[in-house]
Amino acid sequence: MTRRITLIPGDGTGPEITEATRRVVEATGVPIEWEVKEAGMVALEKYGDVLPGDVLDSIKRNKVALKGPLTTPVGKGFRSVNVLLRQVLDLYACVRPCKSYRGAKTRYSDVDIVIVRENTEDLYAGIEFQRGAPETEEFISTVERLLGKRIREDSAVSLKPISEGASRRIVRFAFEFARANGRRKVTAVHKANIMKYTDGLFLAVASEVAKEYPDIQFEDRIVDNMAMQLVQKPELYDVLVMPNLYGDILSDLGAGLIGGLGLAPGANIGDEYAVFEPTHGSAPKYAGLNKVNPMAMMFSAVLMLRHIGEIDAANRLERALAAVIAEGRYVTYDMKPTPDDPTAVGTSQVADAVIGKLAELS
Ligand code: NAD
Repeated sequence: MTRRITLIPGDGTGPEITEATRRVVEATGVPIEWEVKEAGMVALEKYGDVLPGDVLDSIKRNKVALKGPLTTPVGKGFRSVNVLLRQVLDLYACVRPCKSYRGAKTRYSDVDIVIVRENTEDLYAGIEFQRGAPETEEFISTVERLLGKRIREDSAVSLKPISEGASRRIVRFAFEFARANGRRKVTAVHKANIMKYTDGLFLAVASEVAKEYPDIQFEDRIVDNMAMQLVQKPELYDVLVMPNLYGDILSDLGAGLIGGLGLAPGANIGDEYAVFEPTHGSAPKYAGLNKVNPMAMMFSAVLMLRHIGEIDAANRLERALAAVIAEGRYVTYDMKPTPDDPTAVGTSQVADAVIGKLAELS
């Protein structure tokens, strides 16, 4: 039966890597009808809206989307469409596997961790007070009245809500993920020593949920120590679960462990919908150059195929990608010994090589 999936090409280098990924997924033989939808800068220019209603309708209908990166201008204009999508569809779990493949340019050879990041709250909730705004003055004086703490009057302020409910469901998700994927350990990452109420709540809930899963080991780490430990001995870690901002930062650290952003896939999963996208952004300076690595998005498609039950196709695509990486010939600049290596190939040539390997493997 043909499966309908929403395809959001994104902007910057998004459309190139999306096209390359669409081709390799089609080469697995899984019958998919793509419903192509525009969001972000492209949609803003065409329809005056960064997230037109029909994009959400399409994902709600199809339940699954594959998405290229979308640009968010820093410090001005609209808030991130990526964050908006996660909030509106309640995609509360961001799953980012960081696995090393033989041949990838990295200092480590045995990394296999999965970062499970809470996606809906924390400093990412977008509750901010602008410096000098009347509500900021009121907020600052309220804090002083209620808590006796003084915030400098020329401050901007961001709020960090961490709820018991959202913490519980993300930690449960991490344990269920561990169980379903034959993983042995879950590590909760936090800063509860300093943020006693917010991260303290997250840690307390995590410790409680862990008791429901006696078959999976549980431990916790303070986020700064976690960063160092991941650099020194990543092989000790398995599934890591954490609030939103730490997840954002450690995901990139994890990408660094396995050979860079060009190889780091991601999935945003809720109880009803799932959106698969690479960890990296739109790398706009390379847009239209057929240059960047499409593998992070291709690995995201592997996760998507698994999610829709196409296990065999997912495994074949993963093996084909691993074979292209191991060979090291048809890979982009970021995977060559130096970025100016003249043998680096472009985005679409990587797709050709993966399709070639898929044919050899079947
Ligand atoms: P970025 O990930 O786009 O790029 C940072 C650098 O990483 C690039 O300059 C490039 O050197 C390298 N890189 C990234 N992707 C690569 C690939 N596929 N192959 C090879 N090298 C790659 O991060 P940024 O520059 O901070 O962000 C650019 C835009 O993307 C911003 O507007 C940001 O908000 C947005 N963004 C979107 C998402 C998303 O759509 N989910 C995620 C992160 C950032």
